[in-house]
This record gives sequence, C-alpha cells and structure tokens, in this order.
Amino acid sequence: MLLSVNLKMPRTFALPLILAATLVSAQTPVPPLAGFTSAGAAQEYELEKKFDAALSRENLDHWMKDFSAKPHHLGSPAGKVVAGKIAALLKSWGYETEIETFYPLFPTPRTRVLEMIAPEHYTAQLSEPTVEGDESTANAAGGLPTYNAYSIDGDVTGELVYVNHGVPADYERLAEMGVDVKGKIVIARYGGSWRGIKPKVAAEHGAIGCIIYSDPREDGYFQGDIYPKGGYRPPQSAQRGSVMDMPTYPGDPLTPGVGATKDAKRPPYDAASLAANKALPLTRIPVLPISYGDADPLLRALGGPVAPYEWRGALPITYHVGPGTATVHLKLEFDWKLTPAYDVIARMRGSERPDEWILRGNHHDGWVFGASDPLSGTVTMLEEARGIAEMAKQGWRPKRTLIFCVWDGEEPMLLGSTEWAEQHEAELRQHAAVYINTDATGRGFVGIGGSHTLELFAMQSARDVPDPVHKVSVLARSEAAESVAAGKKTEFTLDALGSGSDFTPFLQHVGIATLNFGFGGEEQYGVYHSNYDTYAHYVRFEDPDFQYSLANVQLGGRMLLRLANAEVLPFRFESLAKTVAGYAKEVAKLADDMRQQTEFKNQQIREGGLKIAADARHTYVVPAPQAPVPFLNFAPLDNAVAHLQSSVAAWSKADPAKLDATHAAALDTILMHAEQSLLNDAGLPKRPWYRHMLYAPGFYTGYDVKTLPGIREAIEQRDWHEADTQIGHVAAALNALSGEIDRATAAAQ
Ligand SMILES: [Zn+2]
Repeated sequence: MLLSVNLKMPRTFALPLILAATLVSAQTPVPPLAGFTSAGAAQEYELEKKFDAALSRENLDHWMKDFSAKPHHLGSPAGKVVAGKIAALLKSWGYETEIETFYPLFPTPRTRVLEMIAPEHYTAQLSEPTVEGDESTANAAGGLPTYNAYSIDGDVTGELVYVNHGVPADYERLAEMGVDVKGKIVIARYGGSWRGIKPKVAAEHGAIGCIIYSDPREDGYFQGDIYPKGGYRPPQSAQRGSVMDMPTYPGDPLTPGVGATKDAKRPPYDAASLAANKALPLTRIPVLPISYGDADPLLRALGGPVAPYEWRGALPITYHVGPGTATVHLKLEFDWKLTPAYDVIARMRGSERPDEWILRGNHHDGWVFGASDPLSGTVTMLEEARGIAEMAKQGWRPKRTLIFCVWDGEEPMLLGSTEWAEQHEAELRQHAAVYINTDATGRGFVGIGGSHTLELFAMQSARDVPDPVHKVSVLARSEAAESVAAGKKTEFTLDALGSGSDFTPFLQHVGIATLNFGFGGEEQYGVYHSNYDTYAHYVRFEDPDFQYSLANVQLGGRMLLRLANAEVLPFRFESLAKTVAGYAKEVAKLADDMRQQTEFKNQQIREGGLKIAADARHTYVVPAPQAPVPFLNFAPLDNAVAHLQSSVAAWSKADPAKLDATHAAALDTILMHAEQSLLNDAGLPKRPWYRHMLYAPGFYTGYDVKTLPGIREAIEQRDWHEADTQIGHVAAALNALSGEIDRATAAAQ
C-alpha cells in the first residue's frame, strides 16, 4: 500500500517544476485518491514529493527552542513576541498575514493559600522548583503559578473528603458509605474525567471547595522514572488547566456566540458580579490544583472508611475517604481582567475556487514554556506552511484558498479560536470547507479524529506517510498496534471528536467538517501543563530528533495539498452512514442495559440483597430504588438511518471526480455545506451553543466525546421525555443530510 517514493526523501530542494513534470507518466499506476481522477492523483503525488523534499527537521527544532525560551501564556510579553514572530515568518513566505485581536476575560491568581489546620498544620508549597540540567526551569519568572483558570474567588475552611475522580458515580458510592460532602472541601485526583467536571459535580453535591491533585499513579513514578532522570512528574509538580464549564460553552465567558471584540457587550466582571452571575460558566466553588508532594500530608491525615480498591493511587499510604479528621483552609483571589488574544491569520488565495476555504489551525500560547503543548504542533504546522510556500514560489497555486490560523488563548478555554469562529461565523458557514487541527504531537502512533465524511480521506493521507523508524506507512503501524492490542485484525477508523482543542467551535458550533491529528504513545510525557514542559524535556523524552514531528508535517501537508487541489472535495458518506448506524444501535442498547440493571438493583433493594451482601461492621446506606426505564421509541432514528443508507447507496455509484470544472464546483458547494445539516439551531439540552447532533464533549465527562449526545445523555440522566425529543432532533438532522446527499448525487451525474 505504501508509496515507496515517499521513503527517504533527501531533504534538499525540489526539482524544478518542468523537470518534475516530465517524470510524471500517465501510465504510472498510483493508489486512488478521493476527489481526484487518476491523472489528477498522479500529479498530486508528484507535488507531494516536492513538498517532502522541501521539509527540514532543523526548523522544527529551531522554532521550538526559540518560542519556548520564556513563559508565553495568554497576556504575557513573550506570548505577544511569539505571535509577532510567527506572523513575520508567514508573511516572509508570501502569505497575506494579519493579527486579529480579541479581548476575552482571563483571570490570573493574586492569592493562593492552601493549608491543613487540623490534625496538624501543613502549608502547601504550591510551587515547582528548578530542575538541574533544565535551564528553562530556572527562567520561570513571569510564568503563571499553578492554578485552575476560571475558578471563582473564595475563602473556605472545612473538613476534607477524598472523592476519587469526583465524577457522579463516585458520589453515589460515597452516599452508600454514608459520606456526605455538604459543607466540606473535596480532594479529587486527576483522571477519570476532564478536570472541569470535578468542581462542577462537587458543587452540585454541596461541597464548598475543591482540590485536584496529580496522583503518581497517573503520570508520576508509577509510570516511570521522574524528571529529570525520566520524563514523569516529580513530587512538587502540579497540572495547571482550565476549569471553565466548557461543556456549556467554550471561549470568552462574557461573550457567548459573538466575538469578544473591544466594544462587544459584556456583563459586569468584577469578582463579586462574577460570583453572583449564575449564567456564566465559571465554577461555583473555589478550586486549586496541587502536586502529589502537597497532597500526601493531606491524604495521610484522612480517617474514615478505607477508600474502595479502585480509588487507590500510588502514594505510599492507605487511602481513606474521611471526613472528620482533617480540616483545610483554601483561599483564592484572582485578577479578573480583559486580556488581548493575538490570533495570527495567514492566507494563500486559491487560483480557481478562492471562495472555498481550507482552514488549518494550532494554538501558540502555552501554560508556561509549552514546548510540547502546543509548540510541538505549532512548529509542524509552520513547516507545512513553509513547504507549501516553497512550491508557490515556483509558480504552483492551490485551487482553493488555504488559511493558516495560529490561535492564542487555547489553554484558558479555546479563547482565540472560539472568538474568531464566532466573529466570522457567517463567512465560515458560506466559505469554509474543512478545518484541520493539531495540538501537541510526540513519538509513536498516528491518531486521527474528526468528521466521518472525511474518514476515507484521512485514511488515504495516513497511508501515504512513511513511519520514520519502521519504514511502513504510519497507517499500517497504527493498525498493527490496534490489532495487537485487540487480539484481532482491526482496521483504521476515525475517532469521534469531543473537545480539548481548537476544533470545537468549528465542528460543534459552526458545522464545518473537521479533522484533528497527531502522533503519540511512545513519549515519557508526565509534565503536562507544568513548568517542566520544556525544550530540554521534549528533546530527551518526547520526540528527540523530531522524526515523528516531521511525519506530522508530511501528514498535515498531504491533507492540505489534497484538499486544496482535489477536482472535487473528497467527502464520502459511506463511513458516516455505517458509523451513525452503529451509534443508533449503541443508544438503543444503552437504554436496554439500563432497564435490566435498574430492574435488578431495585429487586436487590426490595429483597434486601444489597444489605445482606454488605459487611455489617461498616456503614452501608441502601440506595433508594429508581423509577423503571420505559421502552423508548427509536423508530424515527432507525428510519432516518435507513433513509441515510439508501441515499448513500445511490451516491456510492457516482464518480464525481470526472466532472468538468463548472459541475465540480457546483458539487463542491453542496458537499462543503453537508456537515451543517447535522446542526440543530436550538442546540443541545441546557447548552444551545453546541449544535452538532452527532458529536459533543460530555456534559459529565468533559473532553471525552458523547456521540448522538442529545439522546445518549438524556438516557444516562434518565430524562425519558428529553430522550424522546432528542430522537426526533437527530432523525431530522439525518434526514436533512440525506436530502443533501441526494442533491450531491444528482449534481454528480
Ligand atoms: Zn494544547
């Protein structure tokens, strides 16, 4: 399957255009490319050879070192310098480049106090010391301390309770142990959900404060040697990160749905007004992240029941739940201010279809030095832009317009990307064909997520990129790893996207078909969102020689060149229909399984099974029985899936790539808007900003995707009336998509 021409390309400049063109033979069989005729595909492969030949790993190394030299978070002097340098590079390569500035609300800490006041006194250090051999860590002045952005201000004192990951199921378990968190401060460990879910669920259960710590089991010494001997988290390192209620809406909390321009209308944002304004997605209780060094004395002081087996981490202690033995005091105050976010936007106008936009984005802001997150991705995107510019210098032009977007303020909560997408929503709905995102990338296996209309396209792109070590395609390597893990032959599938990076506004708010990709799985990356995510760490423990980073450039470049040049946009609907049929089966099964489990548990409650199974020496509170799960009417969904399958069957017979240019352009217009038919303008229940009916971040999981989110979450939350309504909404969206596919089929004749 692999194109051997892509192996071991010398890193010198490409052959002149004329010479290269003479090497193309119409007879050379090439693997098919979605959206291309075979002649078009042959030309495309020649172009990609030239692209590969223009690439340099030295650039990746040089830019990462330069941009990560100082802390470059949103609002920092170095952040502005990095944005300026990136803009200057893109401009020097010939892109029409501008910096677009937004003014989102961004809190930074003024006071951070965490102390245990009983049974003994302990003051948390809340700082990450210098690491020998990593000079960056000695230059952290001006960097953000460890904190969770969009925690509200607070000064609370209370008994401590350990709540495991702090997800809803953990509180059910606590209730059975007779433990109530009302009026208490909870300590949760990272993992099991996105971090912002932890304070949200804690507040729902009446807690007054929340501490989140990094257990060594997750990314510390349990995983491998700690930094600087190995790459894992040392004892005093903590994970910064946003805790805004992203599943409600991301971006500037003050301006949902519109760009946070200087004059945008905003509610008051002093600390008191913010705390009182329950419409905003800030936490309801103060929350602070800490290291396992600081967590150890707190957890050690806890009494009460021993924590359930699955709740135990890797600290050398017996984990207890509390409460009653340890009391802590948490005080947090923030500077709440509007902060300029500098988005760098660089365009190369399309020669034939300039009104069809291919967007490519990665953020540039870090929490501190941000070498891996985000710069490993930022620099690969820049090298894609440079490689493409090299070909443009030789006279090549993309058919469609390419737009590179280097976002600011991703870390606080997708600020730069969300505000830009909201500000330009009308144009995007008209012109945007595809948005391609990356973020941190490392060494190992390729992972790609996104819209299933692009599954074949993504697979073909990965098929044509060589793995730098194993000399097979990155697709073959990824499939091999998955097959070995699964114990059976597994084929590539696209992951559905939840959230966690800048693709969210494009996919889930505006309805643009999206891909997100990167390499990983073989790094020692235990320094996420800490002072130790540095250049020195990256080149020792992540992708030392930038080999896989270069593969990332090759993959991104192929995607962009193919999308820019295809005779017809390479959307295919077969995988989408198959995937959606699978989701429909899953939600029906979810309801069936819940019905059986509920019946069983209610029976155990009635007949006393739960009580007699419990150890009488420990408190066990029998839960209240739950209302039985009714049979839902999935018929509208099943009918819509059948309709979709029949529309797709007709579409599969069309051969769109052979159309003449006028008809191909007309077909493009239908294809590039198809994803928008999957939006419902009313959005999801309790979160109208999220409009996509197939993919959303989970309301109680965060970054993790919920597919058919309206239906699935209504079932999980036992809201049967809502489930019924959402089945109707999803069916309507699928029927609308089928209508668009029928139009595309007609246009492809
Ligand atoms: Zn990132």
